[in-house]
Formats: sequence, structure tokens, C-alpha cells
Amino acid sequence: MTALPQERRVVTAIPGPKSQELQARRTAVVAQGVGSTLPVFVARAGGGVIEDVDGNRLIDFGSGIAVTSVGASAEAVVRKASAQLADFTHTCFMVTPYEGYVAVAEALAELTPGDHAKKSALFNSGAEAVENAVKIARAYTKRQAVVVFDHGYHGRTNLTMALTAKNMPYKHGFGPFAPEVYRVPVAYGYRWPTGAENAGPEAAAQAIDQISKQVGAENVAAVIIEPVLGEGGFIEPAKGFLPAIREFASDNGIVFVADEIQSGFCRTGQWFACEDEGIVPDLITTAKGIAGGLPLSAVTGRAEIMDAAHSGGLGGTYGGNPVACAGALGAIETMKELDLNARAKDIEAVMKSRLAAMAEKFDVIGDVRGRGAMIAIELVKDRETKEPNPAATAALAKACHQEGLLVLTCGTYGNVLRFLPPLVIGEDLLNEGLDIIEQAFTRV
Ligand SMILES: *Cc1c(COP(=O)(O)O)cnc(C)c1O
Repeated sequence: MTALPQERRVVTAIPGPKSQELQARRTAVVAQGVGSTLPVFVARAGGGVIEDVDGNRLIDFGSGIAVTSVGASAEAVVRKASAQLADFTHTCFMVTPYEGYVAVAEALAELTPGDHAKKSALFNSGAEAVENAVKIARAYTKRQAVVVFDHGYHGRTNLTMALTAKNMPYKHGFGPFAPEVYRVPVAYGYRWPTGAENAGPEAAAQAIDQISKQVGAENVAAVIIEPVLGEGGFIEPAKGFLPAIREFASDNGIVFVADEIQSGFCRTGQWFACEDEGIVPDLITTAKGIAGGLPLSAVTGRAEIMDAAHSGGLGGTYGGNPVACAGALGAIETMKELDLNARAKDIEAVMKSRLAAMAEKFDVIGDVRGRGAMIAIELVKDRETKEPNPAATAALAKACHQEGLLVLTCGTYGNVLRFLPPLVIGEDLLNEGLDIIEQAFTRV
């Protein structure tokens, strides 16, 4: 197969006629609960480009939601996963084990923060990893309560719906939800009433007070937090917040779980985003970027906590599938060889300076934030009131899509445009994507 040309090309309306035909077939047989941001049907993808069935080539600022950080057809991922496919597709690690699973656990022990003894368990999806982190923390502490944060997102299964903050579309009509889940404030600097500079300590004090008074620290098995909140709007908890919660957890025998499913694996310019404030989690959940697009997730953490669950208590038929493990080893090799942490920081520098210049021109931009290649702009109707502007956000995303730039939205108020390019995207495509965003502001 020839390499996918790394250039944008728009040859039909988007979506084009072939995509529309497929969309009609899809609508007849695929449940409407499963949505699509942009219903162009994909023929090939790789580097910073997605090619659709009509021959359009879109610039990819989504990476399949922060998954294809090494690209959607990375050489090492394809090579290792293909070789594994030919050898065997599955045996079930719980029946007869294989080396790839062990090698991924070794890589996770090496790459995650902290030099303590670590162990891992592998699963299929992010939500499954989070659920298992809760099982492990409960087994270790013999406590039940789980504390999560405003604007947090942890998945769509029953327990993780309970952990997730936002009702629509994730939870609405799908209750009852799992018990013993408590939500406390997070340091959302841009919207903190007394200003971003106070958000860290004030939010931490409020969170700790609520945990202490409403739940009782001695009842809490785990606190679970995204070091950069993803679906909630690319919120970086204001400085000091994470260390305060980390310290509170340590002081009270609570398992501190960093959900790095979106922010991990070079996305923010570190192997894991919690490293920026020197946080060493007890458990860390990973998925998305881990395996170049193959379904794999993990819980990694202190050996004594990970070993608290009895033998046979953790697992699943497909967890740590050998092809997915091979893909992860290929993705991790690529991240190291191409130094994708440095690349993420380069992307941040380009994006932040271009977006800051746009913020000078367009009042609708209330905030530019994020780290590495996890960058967002929050859109408002008025910079004083900060009233969210979801309509402008949707219109801008649509305008970008029409020009062949795939962007995603997020945020509790639906007013955040987020940019998650593959870390291997070329500088030209990155700048062309930013040109399209700038033109979209002028048009909308
Ligand atoms: C995507 C995500 C999840 C859920 O992962 P799935 O693979 O979709 O189940 C959990 N936590 C965070 C932070 C995520 O971004």
C-alpha cells in the first residue's frame, strides 16, 4: 500500500455522495444512540490525515479522541500487530498466558511515575480500567466510597456513568447509578468565582472539607481525577490543587487514582500529565493513546495495592489481547524513537501562539488552554459574564469540517473546541489546520 499523502484535499461536499450513501445504510441498521461527530466514512488514515470514501483528505485534529497519537497506521504498530495476528489472535491470558501482556506491564512499570514496585492488569476499554481501579482500591482499603470531581469524565458503563459528571448525553435516562460515589469541586481556573489565582487552594479546601464532612475520609477507598480533565473541557486543575488532593489522600489512607486515559502517553508533552506537578499516583488508568488505535487499557500501580484483589478477581475474556499488546509495544517504541513528548511540546508552542493571536481578534474566545497536543479554546457570549457559547462552538466546528479539518467539541457547557492532533502530524498540516480555524472565525 502506498503511503497516504500528507495533504488536505477537498473534492466533494463534506460528507460526499459515497459517505451519504453509507450513512443511509448505517441509519437503517446502527442504533441512533451511537452518534458520529462527522459522518464521512473513512477509507484510509495515517499521519495527520484521514482519507474518506469520496477521496477527500481531512486534516485530523481529533486522533479518534486522543487515540492515534502515533498516527492511525504507524509502521511499528502495523508491523508488530500483523506479526502477532499471524502467530495467534487470542488464547485468553487467564487460560494460557503470552509474553506480550507481560512486556506491556513491564513498559507500564517503567514509564509511569514513581520508582516503587508496580504491577498492572490489562483490559479493553478505558471505562473497564476505571471500574477495575475502583475494585482494586476497595479490596485494598476495605472501604466503599469513591470521590470524583466536577466536570470529570470516566466512561459510560454503569459505575463509570456514576463517576462521570455530565448528564447529557452520557447519563440521561440510564439510571439508577452505582451508589457510594461522591462529587466534589475541582479548580476550574477560568470559571473560579474569586479568580484563577485562588482556584487551586480554595477548590482544594472545599473538596477536602466536603469529603471530610459529608463522606468521612475514613470511608473513602479512592479519589479519582483526570490530571487534565478531558471531556469536561480540557480543564487543567489550577496549580496546587492536585498536590493538595494527593497529600490529603496519603494522610488518610485513600488510594489516589490518576485517570490518564486521555492525558497519558505523550499527549501533554510528558508520559503522564500528573508529572508536571510531580504527582505520583497510587494507581493510574491508561487506554486511548496506549496502543495506536487497538483496544487496550490498563490499571498500573503500587504492587501491594494491585495485589489486594484475590487471584481470579480481575480479568476478562479479551483483556490484554495479544494483538492489542503487540500494537501497544509498537506505539510505545514509536513514542520513544520519535520523542513524541518533545513533539507534543512543539505542537503546543505553535497552537498556543496562533490561538492567542486569534483571541486578540475574536471576542468570542474566552480562554486558550491545555498542554502539549491537548489544547482547547473556550467560547463565550461575553468576556465579562463568561456566558458559554455552545452555538458558536458548534458553528465553528461545522465550518472547519466543511473545509476539511476535523475538530471536536467538549465541555460541560458544550462550548469548548478541542484540538488533539496526532503527535506525528507535520508542521505544514498543523499550520494549515490553524489557518482554517482562523478563517472559520471570520466566517461565523
Ligand atoms: C475516554 C475516557 C474514558 C473512557 O474510555 P473508553 O475507552 O471510552 O471506555 C475514561 N476516562 C477518561 C479520562 C477518558 O478520556
